[in-house]
Amino acid sequence: MFFSDNCGTSGDDSLSKNQAFAAAKQRQNINQDFPLRGFVNCAACDRPMTAGWSKGRTARYPYYICQTKGCSEHRKSVRKEAMEGDFRALLVELTPVPELLGMARKMLSRLWDAQHKRHASSALDAKSKAQALAQKSEAVMQRLMDADDPKLVNVYEKQIVKLKGERRLLLEKAKNPVPQQAGFEQLYRTACPFLSNPCKYGIQEFWSTKNCS
Ligand SMILES: [Zn+2]
Repeated sequence: MFFSDNCGTSGDDSLSKNQAFAAAKQRQNINQDFPLRGFVNCAACDRPMTAGWSKGRTARYPYYICQTKGCSEHRKSVRKEAMEGDFRALLVELTPVPELLGMARKMLSRLWDAQHKRHASSALDAKSKAQALAQKSEAVMQRLMDADDPKLVNVYEKQIVKLKGERRLLLEKAKNPVPQQAGFEQLYRTACPFLSNPCKYGIQEFWSTKNCS
């Protein structure tokens, strides 16, 4: 018998608080037991595999399994040890040589710089457009002061409200902080140990990563 991990995800409002808590706890446990659950895809249908425990006569056995109906591998299971062993081997293969890491750093730094420039240019552009809107708003205000026709007054008032709204949005865009180079250094320092030696980190790291996203 296979125990699916489809626990407490139905969104059923009739679940009591205790049941919801128990379901959440069960979900957390299954994530800890199967860190690659939802992270590895079935070789046949390319859909994320799920995981669970099968019950033998004297013990329970952990498996990853494809639950996609119609898939040729539907309900064919892979032992947890085999799946995670293969994954570790893959991580070893992924370990980059230092030259490659240096190249990746340069590329990422260039991308960061380009993004920084785009961001700064966009903020300047927003500031300039906000100034133009302020002048336009001032001109409409002047026409409003000179207008006698109530219909025209109404039109000008609406225009001013609209222009002020647009200007406020542009000023918010102009105020957004521009990411600094120091931000890249910090990001890279955090990512570098993992990128340079992914197999050093346990598979549980992937479970943590999944929960950060
Ligand atoms: Zn499949």
